[in-house]
Amino acid sequence: MASESASRIAGTIDFEKDGRQAEYLRAPLSRNTSGWGVVEIPIVVVKNGSGPTVLLTGGIHGDEYEGPIAVSELARTLDPATIQGRVIMMPAVNIPAVMADKRLSPVDNRDMNRCFPGNPKGTFSEMLAHYLDSVILPHVDVSVDLHTAGHSGDSAPSTNMHHVGDPDLLKRTMDAAAAFGAPFNVVFGGVDEGATLTSAVERRGILSLGTELGGWGRVNIEGVRIGRRGIRNILKHFGLMDGEVETGQPDGSSGTRHMMVKDAECYSFAPGAGTFEPCNLVGETVRAGEPAGFLHFVEDLDREPLKVTYRRDGILWMSAGPGRVARGDTVAVVMSDFETD
Ligand SMILES: [Zn+2]
Repeated sequence: MASESASRIAGTIDFEKDGRQAEYLRAPLSRNTSGWGVVEIPIVVVKNGSGPTVLLTGGIHGDEYEGPIAVSELARTLDPATIQGRVIMMPAVNIPAVMADKRLSPVDNRDMNRCFPGNPKGTFSEMLAHYLDSVILPHVDVSVDLHTAGHSGDSAPSTNMHHVGDPDLLKRTMDAAAAFGAPFNVVFGGVDEGATLTSAVERRGILSLGTELGGWGRVNIEGVRIGRRGIRNILKHFGLMDGEVETGQPDGSSGTRHMMVKDAECYSFAPGAGTFEPCNLVGETVRAGEPAGFLHFVEDLDREPLKVTYRRDGILWMSAGPGRVARGDTVAVVMSDFETD
């Protein structure tokens, strides 16, 4: 049985060893030009003595840049002498997608964040997911997985988390989010379908935090700043690094506003294919009934644009990405202040 579940991804990191270890994991990928070829995935482990283990991941989706910038920078510079505990850093997990600048992997056309818990003998993305779940996660106490809205949208810089059932874990996760120090932290009611990294992390009872630090297919300057500061804040919050967490916000407020996406009414969808003109930037206050945007049919001479409205009061968390949208695309997600029922 053991050999059947063993990962095909090879690495030589000794997770118990003190100091800095940096290497490329070797994931086999047979292709026309290299039958015995591998794909190299960067990993850095920095450990000093005993203490919690924090996992920092970026590039699970290949077109999200702020996390990989922040995590690779920390991976290059973190001195083991300055920490107590262990930090596992994988700045570009889904490297084929990162190199292709795509959300989905060009190898198997899969969204890696829908492949957990993965399969060592499955497709490339399933093999990667299985490695994270079965080899990395057993070492981990806290997981911070950095995302943005990618090409498909823009997001107000934020952390996010599930409304986990265990009240103690819920509080610890919200405290960790506040320590990360993004302007917003979005708590999701309900659970996802179980195929995300977040779900895999939660199944193991590990504290899980995600981020959305921008989008629109470009690097968000503020998103990078918040990401850089946030991962160091997490190390401070969990006692791996000395110093006070810094959570000051550009608007002068001192910390993170806890939010929620209440229900399905928080989402607005494109009613057809067209060119979508949004009415607000992410982070702006919006009201139910107001226009979220207008769907233009520039190919028709006489057709009036269709108005798409918000269905909840709140703050715009996510907005549409590409100007051209298809029927059913999400064009707005509204968040509101967190309430405990
Ligand atoms: Zn993502």
